[in-house]
Amino acid sequence: MNGPDLKSTMSSNAGSQSAASAALLSVRALEKRYRTKSGEEVQALKQINVDLADGEFVSVLGPSGCGKTTLLKIIVGIVPPSAGTLSLRGAPISGPQAGMGVVFQSSVLLPWWTVLENVLLPIRVLKLDLAANRKKARDLLALVGLKGFENSYPGELSGGMQQRAAIVRGLIHDPGILLMDEPFGALDAMTRERMNVELQRIWLSTAKTVFFITHSVSEAVFLSDRVLVLSARPGTLVDEIKVPFPRPRNIDLMSTAEFGDLTRRLRGALGGGEATHD
Ligand code: ADP
Ligand code: MG
Repeated sequence: MNGPDLKSTMSSNAGSQSAASAALLSVRALEKRYRTKSGEEVQALKQINVDLADGEFVSVLGPSGCGKTTLLKIIVGIVPPSAGTLSLRGAPISGPQAGMGVVFQSSVLLPWWTVLENVLLPIRVLKLDLAANRKKARDLLALVGLKGFENSYPGELSGGMQQRAAIVRGLIHDPGILLMDEPFGALDAMTRERMNVELQRIWLSTAKTVFFITHSVSEAVFLSDRVLVLSARPGTLVDEIKVPFPRPRNIDLMSTAEFGDLTRRLRGALGGGEATHD
């Protein structure tokens, strides 16, 4: 196994043209200010520059309230930015994009719909061919180990199984980018480890670009090619590390010295203030 490259790879604030044209997704000089009900202005994000390359797995770590969910919602197009630009393969975007799939922290499956119908929701929303996508839904459910549960209701599944169904829903319309907001935050530690291995397997077999928000330093290192660290609000990028470990990664990786070096550095970048789940 190669030792980790601890050299910082902070992206420049300006962002080079060549990086922008090579990127699947580019975020430039992004700012978000909310106006609260009492009329106060809250700055959630400040001068965020992010590039995602094709097939890359990128995680974002940061303390609660630093703007992680806001960043994801802006990328997905459900919250407008206050300033800055987003582009997909060099073309500016605004508003919801069909090329993105989202998985939220709680799986938000509709309890009165079967697993199969829940998974097909994006197909209905995007008015794609339902019949043609039923087989694909079944195949993806089998891929995540839910074969035989197609006609079950969410309440009949464990938390981990519900999250796997939610991942299939995020993938069903074949988005180029899968965005996940603390998808395993509500799971117990052992289920979470299993889900990490499972997500790696799905990612390796679907070749998606993944933008993954988490609170957990070890989860971020285990899963990612790159980990970005946001400061406390207003969230701004304070560190970025590359994770060099070859794939597929085994959970034993977490007990190696190299893994420990990376998690220590990230905890340092987080300021050691915010407790993490691990
Ligand atoms: P995180 O996901 O990192 O915990 P969020 O993106 O949810 O952070 O929130 C970032 C900051 O923006 C927080 O201070 C939060 O209270 C504020 N915020 C989020 N959504 C809204 C909103 N709709 N109106 C006003 N403030 C908001
Ligand atoms: Mg959040």
